[in-house]
Amino acid sequence: MCGIVGYVGTKSATPILLEGLRRLEYRGYDSAGIAVLSGAGELQVKKATGKLHNLRTAVGTIEPEGSVGIGHTRWATHGRPSDDNAHPHTDCHGDITVVHNGIIENYAELRDELQAKGHTFRSETDTEILAHLLEDLLPTTASLAEAARLALQRVTGSYAIAVVSRAHPGHIVGARLNGPLIIGLGDGENFLASDIPAILKHTRSIIILEEGEVADVTPTSVTLTDLNGAAIARAPIQVDWDAEAAEKGGYPHFFVKEIHEQPQALRRALLGRVVERPDGLALRLEALDKLAATGALDKMRRAVLLGCGTSIHAALLAKYAMERWARLPVEVSIASEYRYADPIVGPDTLCIAVTQSGETADTLAATRLAREMGAPVVAVTNVVGSAITRVADAVLYLQAGPEISVTATKTFVTMTTVLYLAGLWLGRHSGQLVEVEERQMLAALQTLPGQMERVLETMTAAEGPDGAIGRVAARLAGCHSCMFIGRGPGFPLALEGALKLKEISYVHAEAYPAGELKHGPIALLDPTVPLIADATTGHTYEKVISNIQEVRARDAHVIAIATEGDGGIQRHADEVFYVPAAPEILAPILAIVPLQLISYHVALARGCNVDQPRNLAKSVTVE
Ligand code: GLU
Repeated sequence: MCGIVGYVGTKSATPILLEGLRRLEYRGYDSAGIAVLSGAGELQVKKATGKLHNLRTAVGTIEPEGSVGIGHTRWATHGRPSDDNAHPHTDCHGDITVVHNGIIENYAELRDELQAKGHTFRSETDTEILAHLLEDLLPTTASLAEAARLALQRVTGSYAIAVVSRAHPGHIVGARLNGPLIIGLGDGENFLASDIPAILKHTRSIIILEEGEVADVTPTSVTLTDLNGAAIARAPIQVDWDAEAAEKGGYPHFFVKEIHEQPQALRRALLGRVVERPDGLALRLEALDKLAATGALDKMRRAVLLGCGTSIHAALLAKYAMERWARLPVEVSIASEYRYADPIVGPDTLCIAVTQSGETADTLAATRLAREMGAPVVAVTNVVGSAITRVADAVLYLQAGPEISVTATKTFVTMTTVLYLAGLWLGRHSGQLVEVEERQMLAALQTLPGQMERVLETMTAAEGPDGAIGRVAARLAGCHSCMFIGRGPGFPLALEGALKLKEISYVHAEAYPAGELKHGPIALLDPTVPLIADATTGHTYEKVISNIQEVRARDAHVIAIATEGDGGIQRHADEVFYVPAAPEILAPILAIVPLQLISYHVALARGCNVDQPRNLAKSVTVE
């Protein structure tokens, strides 16, 4: 999920690798490393936790010599950030070295198998199994690429990898599945990278690897195959981006880039957790299984979900899910309030701390308090080894990849998803959730990423001044205030939609449960205050329609998010954005996408700094 760079040619590889990693620094990472193969066949590996500066210090003044090498910045998923867990990883004898972005889902089984064969592991990562698998396969294969293909056939999960072997000098093998990898073409030299900025300085001629492809790269050739070894021909493309555009993958801002990364982030959040078994889909949350095995959940009678900002909205959605599936009373509390509220909490309360960064000061303090009072703690976070993971008894990672935009997008949809998975687990644990419903939910969750891709396509088509987004953005950009409404899961969706708009476009927005409007806030509505309503299909759909009608009677302009096929909504709204049909509880994960994009276009229309909204910080580490 972080950065890969590789070089094979005639120049000294070390400075090219270090410079390439520097170009990927903007993505954020926890450790970095390089491996360089010298002409004499010596493979030198240098790695260090923390910033690139530490790696430079580890490399020292006598740089590893050689013109073949790979480098990596790590964003940990398996094993905390440490020198040992930093990539590149090597086999038992230091002959083969691998860098990897992504997650090897079946690494535990493979590691057991390899350890039984006598392999010694030095890290806690999933990645290291690749080096040992290759070590086993290389003696009986004709090439490094063939060994890589066979190794990858045994692996499930997501990966972009680069491999160098002493037995095959002058070759780097790369491969990808659900993780980006590109080859840069040079003159008597070639490059490999996870992202274009890493190699833009050297070449603009790029081959983009597709899913399940393997590349054998030498200084003068690039040979592509699929995982079975069938040859693939691919012409390079010419990239005309400047360095800044390249960092954002061609998008103008990280915010919109990350909105488009959400389907991929969802897939990763589900990876290894919703698994295919011969008898159908199954849920696997080992962290919770282990926690339950300690007896820590034996007294559980209720749960409290703690967080701040967007995390609270994900938690509010999870409340609906958990109460429905597990019949467990769930309290959702804003951490900065909870910590001073003398809360009722003890061993009968499961505390779930929700924090993207894992460093949010209020969430940490509130969670520590709950723990001191005897509550078992589960952390839901995106950052491996972050402070919250040290407070928690069990951790569920979002696996969303780094989020650079200050305003959360992909961490909202993955938080919600991971909390739902926890809800399904609790449902099973409590014996309240029937298997049929669990299976239906797992199947629906698995279809979400593809459905979200469709939402993004439809929304992209609605951009431009004449498209629906353009019209809505132009209207909202000129407003002083705007109202969001929804019922049930549509209410946290409304809260999150309003927060996006406030955060990046500075238009005042309020969110209300739709039924609450007439108890006060309806007084605010007039033709200059638009209403954005969640009108996706659900058991309170008719009620939402009635609320919309109340508002229209006051001449407010209505923008609705609705379910595909609902032609009737057109009668009640001035603009409609459609999302594919999904179970009511899952619908907000799709419906948030139009709301994110609307806020983005409003911010653009108002000339706001999208990626760094005023007064905001990505992770709030102060009280
Ligand atoms: N899963 C690997 C690890 O934790 C790769 C992480 C990454 O994508 O940077 O080491």
